[in-house]
Amino acid sequence: MNIIETENLTRRFGRNDAVNGLNLAVPEGSTVALLGANGAGKTTTLKLLMNLLQPTAGSARVLGADSRRLGEKEFAQIGYVSENQELPLWMTVRQLLDYCRNFYPTWDRDLEATLLKQFALPTDRPLKQLSRGMTMKAALLSSLAYRPKLLVLDEPFSGLDPLMRDEFISGVLEVSATGQWTVVVSSHDIGEVERLADRVAMLDAGRLRLDETTEALLGRFRRIEATLDEAPAALPAGLPTAWREVEHAGRVIRFVDTAYAREATEAACRRLFPDAAVVAQPMALRDIFIVLARQARGAAEAAA
Ligand code: ATP
Repeated sequence: MNIIETENLTRRFGRNDAVNGLNLAVPEGSTVALLGANGAGKTTTLKLLMNLLQPTAGSARVLGADSRRLGEKEFAQIGYVSENQELPLWMTVRQLLDYCRNFYPTWDRDLEATLLKQFALPTDRPLKQLSRGMTMKAALLSSLAYRPKLLVLDEPFSGLDPLMRDEFISGVLEVSATGQWTVVVSSHDIGEVERLADRVAMLDAGRLRLDETTEALLGRFRRIEATLDEAPAALPAGLPTAWREVEHAGRVIRFVDTAYAREATEAACRRLFPDAAVVAQPMALRDIFIVLARQARGAAEAAA
């Protein structure tokens, strides 16, 4: 079952298509990283899903309901934490939790206590006196404690120091370990989301550029280095289109294979560079993202 399903979801601001014909499915139980460059449409997508914005065209279903009709029943099962979230800043953390508890029948006081301790939050100071990172953790705590079926995090790590990021992620993993839920997290901090996400969706200029499991994505990208016996005068013709960022320096040819499959890649290397010594290195999600983002920018410049 899909917890989120969008069909041609579109949001225009003036002449700008912030989100453009998005068809995205988020299976129940998955943790999806929503990646994309600045202005790619991540926040707009999440706001559309949370009914904080209305689509210009298309539609989204969240927990089985049309996003435009999300009500109390659905929001009792959704946790939403965003960078620009408005919180009642005059409340202390304790007052915030006492207040929120009333709205959620599934509120788990043991989990609340565990997370309070883990996040080391002062409970008796008004939120306005807390640092940005602490305020984000308070927001996360108030969204985790009722074990939502769907957790939506928009740029949760921005402004958090490494220790706070770690605590934040541990908090999310803590709940992940004890129940079945679905998480959508948008972030520029790819190293951090790599620890969480089992799926990756990437937006580029409002369009969905890829949507696949982290395992498949990491599996099909390799940085390849082929060392030839002698420096070739030029690259051979007919390089596979899946090979990107091909460069050649002396006897060494380097490229990124975006459709790596050991036997096929080795066979193509043998055909194009007979007798070369070929080494294939796995790539981190961050490096894959950079290759894809560069490609997207190149395509946009070519179109312009
Ligand atoms: P970032 O990583 O920088 O937060 P993002 O991927 O979240 O970016 P969005 O904030 O969704 O991107 O913005 C997508 C596009 O929509 C941008 O071009 C942005 O300028 C535009 N946009 C977003 N909100 C509005 C608005 N309220 N009015 C006009 N344009 C908007």
